Amino acid sequence: MMRLPAFSLLAASTLAEAVEMLRDHPGSTVIGAGTDLLPNMKRRQVRPATLVSLGAIPGLVGIRRDDTGGWVIGALTVLGDVARFPDLPGALRAAAGSVASPQIRNTATVGGNLCVDTRCSFINVTEEWRAASGPCLKAGGDVCWVAPKGEQCWAVSSTDLAPAAIVLGASVRLVGPGGERTIPAADLYRPDGIDHIAKARDEILTEVSIPPLAGLRSTYLKLRRRQAVDFPILGVAAAVRTGDDGIVEEARIVLGAIAPAPLRAAATEEFLVGKRLTPEVVEEAGRIAALPVRPFDNTDLGSRYRKWMTATFVRRALRELE
Ligand code: FAD
Repeated sequence: MMRLPAFSLLAASTLAEAVEMLRDHPGSTVIGAGTDLLPNMKRRQVRPATLVSLGAIPGLVGIRRDDTGGWVIGALTVLGDVARFPDLPGALRAAAGSVASPQIRNTATVGGNLCVDTRCSFINVTEEWRAASGPCLKAGGDVCWVAPKGEQCWAVSSTDLAPAAIVLGASVRLVGPGGERTIPAADLYRPDGIDHIAKARDEILTEVSIPPLAGLRSTYLKLRRRQAVDFPILGVAAAVRTGDDGIVEEARIVLGAIAPAPLRAAATEEFLVGKRLTPEVVEEAGRIAALPVRPFDNTDLGSRYRKWMTATFVRRALRELE
C-alpha cells in the first residue's frame, strides 16, 4: 500500500487568509478534494510540505445565473452537481459527468479539475519505477522519455472540463497576493507538461464564468478504455450555431487529452462555417481535425489509434449537434 508522506494541513476561513497561507509557506499548494493531488503525493510525484484547504471558505460552492444570462460556478462546486444541473450547457454537463466515478464526482471540485496535473506513463508510476527508468523531465531529470531528442515535457492534459470550458468561451477568476484577475479559460493552459497552468502557485481559482450561449449547441465526447473511472485519452468538445436555414454560422471545436494543453481545431472550425452539416461535410471535418494531431504513446492505447479516433469523435460530436 502506498502511504502519504508527512505534510501540514492549513484550513483557511477566508480567501485572503488562504492567499496569505500560500504566500507565507513556500512549499505549499491548494487542495480541493484531493482526488488527484493525494494519489500524486502517494506516488511522490509532488511533495508539497503544506496543503491549504479552501473547504471552510464561504461562497465558493454553487452555480448561479449572472446578469448577462450566463452562469457562474464556484471553484469548490463538485462535478456531480455540475453534471446534474439541468440548465447548464450540454458540453459542460457531459464533461463533468464523464470524470472518474460517481464517488469521485461527488467530492472532486471544478477548480481541482481545471488545475489537474498532466499525466504520462513515465510519471504516473511508483517512485521505484521512476528510479528504474531514470527520472524524466517532469520528475526532475534531464530527458523526456517520450521524445528524448526534444527539450520539453509531453505529459498530457487530462482534464475533462477544460475543453468544454474553452469551447463555451468560459473565463476563470484567479485571486492571489497581487489582487484578482479574470482570464479566458483557454489562457489558463500552456503547451508544456510541467509548467502547464498559467497561474502562480499562490493564486487560487475561485470561479468559472460561462457567457450566455447565444444559440450555440454544445457537446463533449470522451474516449477511454472503460466507460467508467478512466481518465480521457481523447476528449472532443464541440459547439455549433446554425441559422434558420441550417447553415453553420459559428463552429468551435477543442480537443483534449492528446497534448500537454487543450488544442483548438481552428482549421475545422473555419471549414464548417457557411456549410450545412451534411454527411459529406461532417466526414471531411473529422479528417481535417485529425490532420495536425500528433499524440504520443504516453497514455493508454496507441497514438495512431487516438489520432484515428479524433476524426471519428469529431464526426460523432457534429452529428449530435446537427
Ligand atoms: P485536487 O486533487 O484537490 O487538486 C488537483 C490540482 O488542482 C492540485 O494541483 C491542486 O493544487 C489544484 N487545485 C485544486 N483546487 C484549486 C483551486 N481552487 N485553485 C487553484 N488550484 C487548485 N480527472 C479527469 O479530468 N477525468 C477523469 O476521468 C478522471 N478520472 C480519475 C480516476 C481516478 C481513479 C482518480 C483517482 C482521479 C481521476 N481524475 C480524473 C482526477 C481527479 O479526480 C479530477 O480531475 C478532480 O476533478 C480533481 O479535483 P479535486 O478537487 O480532487 O482536485
